[in-house]
Amino acid sequence: MSSDGPTLGDESYVAAARGDGRSHGHGHAHSHSGGPTHTHPRTPGQEAHAHGRGTVDDGPGDDHEHERPAAGTGHDFDLPDLPSAVDVFDTTLRDGSQQEGLSLTVDDKLRVAEQLDHLGVTFIEGGWPGANPKDAEFFARAPKELHLERATLVAFGSTRRAGVRAEDDETLRHLVDAQTEAVCIVAKSSEVHVVDALRTTLDEAVAMVADSVAFLRANDLRVFLDAEHFFDGHKANPEFSLRILQAAEEAGAETLVLCDTNGGTLPFEVERIVADVLDRFETQVGVHFHNDSGCAVANSLVGVSVGATHVQGCVNGYGERAGNADLAAVVPDLSLKLRVATIPAERLPLITPVAHHIAELVNIAPNPQQPFVGASVFAHKAGLHTSAIARRSDAYEHVRPDSVGNGTRFVVSEMAGRSTLAMKAEELGLELDSDAMTSVLDSLKQLEYEGYHFEVADGSLELLLRESTGWRQSFFGLESYRVIAEQDDDLSTEATVKVRVGDERIVATAEGNGPVNALDGALRSAIGSRYPALAGVHLVDYRVRVLDSAKGTGSVTRVLIDSTDGDRTWTTIGVSENIIAASWQALSDSVVYGLLHTAGGDA
Ligand SMILES: [Zn+2]
Repeated sequence: MSSDGPTLGDESYVAAARGDGRSHGHGHAHSHSGGPTHTHPRTPGQEAHAHGRGTVDDGPGDDHEHERPAAGTGHDFDLPDLPSAVDVFDTTLRDGSQQEGLSLTVDDKLRVAEQLDHLGVTFIEGGWPGANPKDAEFFARAPKELHLERATLVAFGSTRRAGVRAEDDETLRHLVDAQTEAVCIVAKSSEVHVVDALRTTLDEAVAMVADSVAFLRANDLRVFLDAEHFFDGHKANPEFSLRILQAAEEAGAETLVLCDTNGGTLPFEVERIVADVLDRFETQVGVHFHNDSGCAVANSLVGVSVGATHVQGCVNGYGERAGNADLAAVVPDLSLKLRVATIPAERLPLITPVAHHIAELVNIAPNPQQPFVGASVFAHKAGLHTSAIARRSDAYEHVRPDSVGNGTRFVVSEMAGRSTLAMKAEELGLELDSDAMTSVLDSLKQLEYEGYHFEVADGSLELLLRESTGWRQSFFGLESYRVIAEQDDDLSTEATVKVRVGDERIVATAEGNGPVNALDGALRSAIGSRYPALAGVHLVDYRVRVLDSAKGTGSVTRVLIDSTDGDRTWTTIGVSENIIAASWQALSDSVVYGLLHTAGGDA
């Protein structure tokens, strides 16, 4: 029993004595005497956890070599327990969506998950199946509609209720029915919350964890345990809080996640408590911080610095009250500064575009001062040190902006970044020579100045890139369009478009419930018979934002349209002082993109 930590009075603790816990392994870190053996491949964080504890073995699988995680080697910090890698666990779709004013449709959630997978996080917590119909629908649709390449989808829930058998508990049943590979369950790990909120005994709270984890493991699920209010609980009654973790470990939980649920814990407390847990348990330890003290990112880094190898948070720091730890800061801090592997190294430059894309999806304007990814954080006002930055940027910038997909900015549009564009062109199989690249960057510079935002409009960006290679769409040529809105008994909208398809001139009119809908109907009516594939392309979302024009001439309207052909989804953009003109641009791009990628489309 360690003398400087809390006394447990329970001999059965897997208690490595302080100081030698990292050098002596206790067998395979992936199996538990009390629980079933895990058969999935180890995550990079679990691999690092095992290595840190001296239990290096070949493990049941190692398929993480195809992409180098985002870390270099070596750092200058005196941090002996710093792991070589951590697992990044994003909870935007669960904890993040608790933010006031943030509301996601199921489609939005699927698209946020795609972005997170694109970024390369290890785990995506998708929501709480059974808690609301939206999350239930998300998990029902995910297996068919969500094709995750890197991330593992996780369903969230809680332990069984007090006094109910695990096999009879509805929440646990929903978790099994969600059909994910992994689940995360929250357990009260603070005495005061068990007594006051749960109104049950400490022994029952421990049994709730043991039974629930065992039940889920018996159903072949990987289990993460979110120990709620752990830090406060540990400060008040460490013995009880540690018993919760012990129950989870013995029942076969894969990761013990210590949660600072009210966000009030400070970094020095995190250091002591996480180290104490790591000294006592074999299982991988994770951390989950809220930002109520303004310390969520700092606390996450401190947790990792003493050996936590699983970090939860939300891209952009979404969450109720002051939010969760911002993964858009935690990830670059770990990768670039502490040299701890997080997402694949090649993907770190995606963090700015992904953070902005997710901001668009949740419809919350990105914070320009957000560390690493904000539009202003590498922006330098022209003046005295402008030329000095050009000569010696590291004197003024703490990391290279392009390492996180951001850009030193003297003018707005350089944000797009050559490397991001090159990556996109490669993804599309387009060969852009240096001249073409420069010309695209020039166009982007001008268009973004006018209010376009191509980071969130992949469809329009692709068309722009294709056009830079000399390609022009020849599906249809617009002659004119007209929209009439009339308030009679009802408000009705009618649109007419005049287009040319080949040598044919076509005029078509349609009604709609709004201008975009009417224009969409008219365009489809005009060209639909020539392009039957268009019937499979649908607009799924339409978002409008009024922007202050960079030109200073007043405001412009930016329209984003999301479309799908059932297989892929894409976003197109239009910007104009006139909302109809902006809508037409986005609509026209959407249709061109759809025809380009649908069978039979060739132009
Ligand atoms: Zn939380």
